[in-house]
Amino acid sequence: MPIADRLTARKAIIERVRGLGRKVVAVLPFHYPRALLRAYRLHPIEVWGPPNVPRDKGSQHFQAYTCDIVLKATSFLLRGGMDPVDAILVPHTCDALQGMASVTADFLKPRQPVLTLYLPRGCRDSDRAFLIAELRRLAGCCAEISGHKPNEADWAEAFAAEEAADRALASLYQRRPRLALSDRDFYTAVRSREFLTAEDFGELAASLPEGDPPADGVGLMLSGIVAEPLELFDRINEMGAHVVADDLACGYRRVYPPAAESDPFARIAAQLLACPPDPTRGSPIEQRVAALRSRMRESGAQGLLIYDVKFCEPELFDIPLLRKHLAAAGLPVLHVEFEMGMTVSRQVLTRIEAFVETLQ
Ligand code: SF4
Repeated sequence: MPIADRLTARKAIIERVRGLGRKVVAVLPFHYPRALLRAYRLHPIEVWGPPNVPRDKGSQHFQAYTCDIVLKATSFLLRGGMDPVDAILVPHTCDALQGMASVTADFLKPRQPVLTLYLPRGCRDSDRAFLIAELRRLAGCCAEISGHKPNEADWAEAFAAEEAADRALASLYQRRPRLALSDRDFYTAVRSREFLTAEDFGELAASLPEGDPPADGVGLMLSGIVAEPLELFDRINEMGAHVVADDLACGYRRVYPPAAESDPFARIAAQLLACPPDPTRGSPIEQRVAALRSRMRESGAQGLLIYDVKFCEPELFDIPLLRKHLAAAGLPVLHVEFEMGMTVSRQVLTRIEAFVETLQ
């Protein structure tokens, strides 16, 4: 049975978590403190577009060069898609999302509070201190929404559940070569962390069948914010290639390591700052190149496909240097931009196909 058919619909999840005494927060991409939300009795449901929503209503509020995630998420809000949630959290992943937070809170004024989280662009002591202060500020907003202030037991429960789910995600990636899953099913499972409870995600991850993955051929590493639509994976498989590793914001970039700090805010900050390097956190290019090179070698990826949402500035900034350094290491790179929708354009597929042919 395809993994998508095993997943509970978001509406049913919202009802279930409400039954557990939690309120629901729509969360924009992509780093945020899951354990903090849980300790304050909130459940995140992430919003990455969605791809099937028209841009129309969102386009009325932003410049023409705004990415589809912001345009479609704003349309989704204005079309009532976020009506069932109790709050909206917009992390400061990039200027586009910061703009969305301002426009939403100051002009669109939805009935739900709009929360923000400013993420530092480095890992210095001052960045850590800034992030801890931001997390404490966000916690104050969460307490107002849920009416709950966590005690020690709440924090312990939240960390146990969310860190177990983080370990389950890390283990999915480690087990990838031994999972009898198509690329589409593997990424459907990875992305179910965007809306399932930590327990349900852990259960799903543990139940995935072992065996030889069905696709073979040219191994690709996929980089970017989000691989939408899932049809992309089927088309790549039809070209005689498969995805052996990723550097996606909706994927491996959120494999958070455990941390041991006793203060809950310091512990969350340590986890958020220790995840794999990515351009939205201002990771130095040398770190990104080293991480990509080593993961490509380990996974057997023969080329890097940078699959970028059109107008995604943070990703675009790094591309010239990534190309240069990876090419020097003998690792070919293809960069394509796409407009988010329910199909992948013929033009994008042709470029990927030509790239795969050069790697065969
Ligand atoms: S796609 Fe890029 S520009 Fe758009 S919200 Fe994500 S990080 Fe920001």
